[in-house]
Amino acid sequence: MTVKGRKTATYKIIKKEYGNIYQFYCDISGALVKETIPYKRKEPEEELEAAWEFEGKDCFNQCHKCGRWVMDVMYNPDTHNCVLCSPIEDIPDFCPRCGAQIAGLAVFCHNCGVRLMYGGDDDEKDG
Ligand SMILES: [Zn+2]
Ligand SMILES: [Zn+2]
Repeated sequence: MTVKGRKTATYKIIKKEYGNIYQFYCDISGALVKETIPYKRKEPEEELEAAWEFEGKDCFNQCHKCGRWVMDVMYNPDTHNCVLCSPIEDIPDFCPRCGAQIAGLAVFCHNCGVRLMYGGDDDEKDG
């Protein structure tokens, strides 16, 4: 199976006398997920691969859609996608704004029109 995207999560290298410590970060939240023990290999790629294979990889999930490496809470195991590609959402029973009862899978409140769920194109950001 091939998934596009990077081979590893976002990482930083901390150089030590006895080797390089790798810090792997969630591609969505930017949170530090794993800090490895020091690795020392001849080739930088080989070293990264070792750190990733031995320690990093198990702490991450790769989105099958966009290829991001994300931590558990940023991953939707039902779809094998990250939460940006496949948001995890609780279907609301009541509108959080006006309190109207919501029947079924409504994206917008039928009463006040507030957006209840993501879905489709989400153009609005910090408005
Ligand atoms: Zn994704
Ligand atoms: Zn409403």
